[in-house]
Amino acid sequence: MSEHSVRVRFAPAPSGWLHVGSVRTALFNWLWARHTGGTFIWRIEDTDADRATDASMQSMIEAMRWLGLDWDEGIEVGGPYGPYRQSARADLHRAVARRLADRGHLYHDDRSPDELNAWRQERRDADLPPIVKRDTVPDASEGTLRLALPTSGTTSVDDLVRGEVTWDWANESDPVLVRSNGAVTYPLANAVDDLAQGVSVVCRGEDLLSVTPRQRRLYELLLADDLLDDALAEAGLPARDPSWEAPSTFAHLSMVVGQDRKKLSKRHGSVSIQEFARRGFLPETLLNYIALLGWSPRDGRERMDRDEVVAAFDLTNVGASAAAFDTDKLTAFNGERIRDLSPDALAHRLVPHLDGTHLPDDDEGDPDPTFEPVVATPPTDEQMATLVALVPLVQERMQTLAEIADYAPPFFREVGIDDAAAAKVFRKAGAVEALEAGARVLADVDWTVEGIEEALRGLTDELGIGFGKVAQPIRVAVTGSNVSPPLFESLEIMDRAVVLLRLEAALPIARDIQAGTD
Ligand code: GLU
Repeated sequence: MSEHSVRVRFAPAPSGWLHVGSVRTALFNWLWARHTGGTFIWRIEDTDADRATDASMQSMIEAMRWLGLDWDEGIEVGGPYGPYRQSARADLHRAVARRLADRGHLYHDDRSPDELNAWRQERRDADLPPIVKRDTVPDASEGTLRLALPTSGTTSVDDLVRGEVTWDWANESDPVLVRSNGAVTYPLANAVDDLAQGVSVVCRGEDLLSVTPRQRRLYELLLADDLLDDALAEAGLPARDPSWEAPSTFAHLSMVVGQDRKKLSKRHGSVSIQEFARRGFLPETLLNYIALLGWSPRDGRERMDRDEVVAAFDLTNVGASAAAFDTDKLTAFNGERIRDLSPDALAHRLVPHLDGTHLPDDDEGDPDPTFEPVVATPPTDEQMATLVALVPLVQERMQTLAEIADYAPPFFREVGIDDAAAAKVFRKAGAVEALEAGARVLADVDWTVEGIEEALRGLTDELGIGFGKVAQPIRVAVTGSNVSPPLFESLEIMDRAVVLLRLEAALPIARDIQAGTD
């Protein structure tokens, strides 16, 4: 693997969204390209027209951009060996298939899926392997076209993750390369495009390990006697670089599983990348965390920024066991990174969680459509100033950006008083007096944290109650909730007039509750 010639690709089928497993594949390819100074290609494998959607492709692009993964060649950005949407390369694939057929490598199989299933069952019943080889298929002059693979001997690869893997040709079924309607299938399109785009390293999920032998056989056939070069010329596509060989390096990444070592569940990571954004994870946290799924730097470091991961990443040092996705660890990681941001940078990261771009969770953990935006898009200068002032009060306690939606509303608009908080706090003896006295002393103190603190602490002596009994009713009256950022600092960033009005408005509520408890 010469350093300058690494060409890796991410080749997802565009159905559904990018999730942790597929992003890990994209990321490891990207990291290897960046680490080696190579090229990262993004090809979309949309030959399965029934499953591929544009919406899925757009959502994948958005997710990659959010994570900050760029690609040197591929969809949207283009490049010298395009097109990078597989469906736009159909002429090439057909030209290749025709040449393979002309050279006698393909044969027809006209059995229907039902007939094929019945045949497989018969084989099993007779204790024979249900492996499709040319000599088991009745002669036909139409139907699907299968590739005749070798019938004996073995083939091996030295996989970077799994070590040497050997397959017995006798156990490999001849794959269908062209459907009866003339459409070329993924195994052919994938091999053709990897060669035509000069891919040197194939890094993908271990679910694709089993297709490796037939792909390597195709590489051989396509490179023999200029078959692919002629087909490229016929299809009017760019010629290959003559120095390119077939992909020589394979890395099949283990699955990503949940903490229970089972398939990832929705609660544990099997969500779209956009969902991580909505839940308030920083892209740099996710990038750092996903890089550690199956790989770790030799010195054991965990917290790394992007450049450090690029510098340390080593595709030859990826573990073979399944990588467990740990949401708690990701969350703790995220909290640490939030604390590292400057207040100003954090304030800007919080805006999408306040302006309705990312909705907070409802009780079921789904986006809450009833959320009312707290700031404008873009926020006004005044809103931004409030947010920057609020950040130091919450930064230490936040694990995700989304938590800001719990704290911020009373700093920006009127909020009702939470019934449960009122019932709990206003029932206690001294609550009404605390609200009255609070309003009185706050009316003319110096509006600073120290001034506010001194005035409210002074009330404990005057009213003969503990500080909690003074502070809690005031907190509930002003923020609507019995949990809020530190009280004196919170009051300071609100307007005195707003605070006084809220204390006054809470009084009748507190009096009613007190009356009810008599
Ligand atoms: N398009 C294939 C898939 O999404 C991946 C092909 C590959 O990486 O070789 O499963």
